[in-house]
Amino acid sequence: MKIFALIILNIIVSYCSFAEIINGYEHNLKKAEQSLLNLSNLLDNVSNANSDEQYYRIKSHYQKAKQILKYVHTYHSKTADLINTLWTMHPSFGDQINGIRNHHGLVTDIYISVNPKERMNRNQFGTTNIDQAKDDPHTYQSSFGPNTVSVQIRDCSDWQMIQLLIHELAHVKYQVPNLSTYMDYFHNAYQHFRSTDSFGHKKDDPSNLSVQKEMKLYQESMKRRRKPGSALDLTASNL
Ligand SMILES: [Zn+2]
Repeated sequence: MKIFALIILNIIVSYCSFAEIINGYEHNLKKAEQSLLNLSNLLDNVSNANSDEQYYRIKSHYQKAKQILKYVHTYHSKTADLINTLWTMHPSFGDQINGIRNHHGLVTDIYISVNPKERMNRNQFGTTNIDQAKDDPHTYQSSFGPNTVSVQIRDCSDWQMIQLLIHELAHVKYQVPNLSTYMDYFHNAYQHFRSTDSFGHKKDDPSNLSVQKEMKLYQESMKRRRKPGSALDLTASNL
């Protein structure tokens, strides 16, 4: 009876829990902090009793771990700022993405990462991975695991990044609940395309139509927020 109740509870939790917009650096930040702490403790322990060679080898690992932590911390902060901007500038859309579910009604988490330009292809400013789980065509998967999507945004100005993010999340909004049918369309529509830059942007692509619609809504909401006389330019290109 207890097992039965537990199964029911799990099902209820699974259906009631919300998908989340998650900082893609969250896990790496914890890992980098722990790694630096471990090396720091190790350094304290070997400083007296062991050889110089061993000490300097650990010291070198410690210095590298410090640089990694600095990098991860920087881009974790930039990503956190961008997610906060989404909640400030376009909260209703953030709510829709935060509650996104696949065809089965199961939650899908969205991992967002701001990357330095060297970590992205030359023409790429924003990307969303697209992939299906092997055992279920309706289940999205990314490097973060099953039921996840990975969105990468190039580090640039704040106003560009928020538009890039909304653009990518509008792809997500269409693709997650329609993954299986969209993948059939996708393979057929882009089979002769050589450049991946155009993927998802054919005129009749339903994912592209979702982007056009969302960008229009965002720009209209920005116009309403804009103060009289402001020269804020909302025109986006190369997204
Ligand atoms: Zn796009």
